[in-house]
Amino acid sequence: MTVIDGAVASDIATLLHHRPSVAAGTVRITDACTACGACLATCPERALRRAPRKPLVIDDLCTAWWDCVGICPTGAILDVRT
Ligand code: SF4
Repeated sequence: MTVIDGAVASDIATLLHHRPSVAAGTVRITDACTACGACLATCPERALRRAPRKPLVIDDLCTAWWDCVGICPTGAILDVRT
């Protein structure tokens, strides 16, 4: 079970409450993630948030820039557009 501290949980709750009505895309982060943090700054929507094991993806904020997919040194971020 992943434990998220109170500040992060509060931030996530705020984001979900104010989420846009339409999300353009999303990504999944695999176990290849080394938690380097390189992807966090690439997202203009702040859809990736620091979390203990690997970044947390806020699907409803993703607007499909995909810069995170390109910058990941381990190929851990998968574009899961349908
Ligand atoms: S760039 Fe890749 S390896 Fe680094 S934190 Fe993001 S998903 Fe993990």
